[in-house]
Amino acid sequence: MGIKKKILFLCVMTYCCGAQSKVCHYKSTVWNTRLNKVVNTIIVEKDYSKLKSAEIGAFGCTPCLVDQTEIKLPFLPPFKLCKYIAPKVEKLLIQIHEEGFPLNNVIGYRPGLSKGPTDSEGNRTKLSNHSFGVAIDINSELNGLYDNCKSWNSKCRLVKGGSRKLSSPGTIQKNSPLVFLMRDIGLKWGGEIAGNQKDFMHFSPNGY
Ligand SMILES: [Zn+2]
Repeated sequence: MGIKKKILFLCVMTYCCGAQSKVCHYKSTVWNTRLNKVVNTIIVEKDYSKLKSAEIGAFGCTPCLVDQTEIKLPFLPPFKLCKYIAPKVEKLLIQIHEEGFPLNNVIGYRPGLSKGPTDSEGNRTKLSNHSFGVAIDINSELNGLYDNCKSWNSKCRLVKGGSRKLSSPGTIQKNSPLVFLMRDIGLKWGGEIAGNQKDFMHFSPNGY
């Protein structure tokens, strides 16, 4: 084999084998509905091409760390989101911050089996939108998760996070620019979802 052919052969091998060996790695918590807490953490490591359809979410995002990117802004602690939506969300947060909306804390990527049907032991079996890095919680201390809440009223019952204070500037409301801007990039607000729960901190492709 001539030297040029050898180099070509090595290049092709590096390209092919490099693509084949793309590895998906992530750690996911498991939520148990009987104990009402995280009971387990599973570590997943497999070839990216072996991902199941349940591991591919909105915008083609997956729980694999290789698909997540860190957003670092001077006014927030760093957090991760799916690389396919991260640039849009980053731009939006900068705009909101410059317009004076207080961003106190943000949670993005957080893999967990916390949705869907339960197994015989009460463990949830489906990955949440946070698992794919396509959901984002903003100012949870002012925008709690409520049940008994078909629409916002005094009987809504706080389940998680802090109670809403409508007079506080960091509280998200249906006419907040944040809600419109998120909708423009394909993320619905959890304060407007159907059903008994309202997740006022939460934005995701379907609002859940
Ligand atoms: Zn959330």
